[in-house]
Amino acid sequence: EQKRQAPGQLGLFNDVLAEQIRREHKLRSRLEEAVARRELLLSYQPLVTASSERVMGVEALLRWQLDGEEITPDVFIPLAEQSGQIRGLGHWVLQQACHFAQHHLPSDLALCVNVSVVQMEDVAFVDLLTQILADSGLPPARLHLEITESLLASDPELLPQKLRQLHDLGLRICIDDFGTGYSSLSMMQDLAVDLVKIDRSFVGNMESSGRVIIKAVMQMADSFGHLVVAEGVESSTQAQALKALGVHYLQGFYYAQPLGEHSLLEYLARPAAEPVITPLD
Ligand code: C2E
Ligand code: MG
Ligand code: MG
Ligand code: MG
Repeated sequence: EQKRQAPGQLGLFNDVLAEQIRREHKLRSRLEEAVARRELLLSYQPLVTASSERVMGVEALLRWQLDGEEITPDVFIPLAEQSGQIRGLGHWVLQQACHFAQHHLPSDLALCVNVSVVQMEDVAFVDLLTQILADSGLPPARLHLEITESLLASDPELLPQKLRQLHDLGLRICIDDFGTGYSSLSMMQDLAVDLVKIDRSFVGNMESSGRVIIKAVMQMADSFGHLVVAEGVESSTQAQALKALGVHYLQGFYYAQPLGEHSLLEYLARPAAEPVITPLD
């Protein structure tokens, strides 16, 4: 009985696997044309200061509309990283976002852009950034590069040097998804980091262990001179608790969803007293 069932389950498993491989293959080949076909666009999610809840910047988040279906970055970014397509995509993201921020956003707003390890490892990355900043005219200090914490473990030799070079261009370095990776305190102390962004899993878990972790991050940030952002803020209760813990900036659906360019400009133009609305383009 057992022997008969096993090949059947394996067959099913193989079918699922084969289907997944087909889908990934399709996505990779469609991703090749996505920029030219204008299927990619950027949305922008506001970040607010904890003290006054004024918008201090926006994070560019990539969206892919494929045949009327939205493919989430959690699906296609890893694929693009494996295939190396992230280099072209990442370049496009930086160009688009820097141009938009410089030409359409108030000049005191920061622009946060996510950067993948594969982009960072490119020997030409620093030159590329210099070029993009020059072409767009965006002052380097307005650009925050978000690097996921897991990246810190990737190349202990190269990364400190890369971050230092980028920092010397005048831009800011933010460690994203902080608390989920493997970085040691000594590593954090030595890196040219300006901000850490607390992973949203801790914000969503503040009634229990999240709170203790956020407190520890605040102490580290205080000693090392980092500013702290909390992501994934979904309620006023969370916002109040994060403010009480001394977090500097807040980001999340409670303040605004990621917005298309047009909705973002509307959001920024609304009178400060108006209740926060969160339309999606
Ligand atoms: P991330 O950089 O940590 O971005 C935050 C993610 O949390 C975004 O998901 C955002 O839409 C979502 N989010 C924001 N506020 C809330 C909230 O209150 N509750 C919940 N549940 N979620 C919230 P998104 O846009 O799907 O992006 C996922 C990840 O994909 C990003 O995580 C980032 O790592 C990556 N990504 C997105 N755009 C780019 C890009 O242009 N380049 C690279 N390399 N990675 C990108
Ligand atoms: Mg990010
Ligand atoms: Mg994050
Ligand atoms: Mg992330």
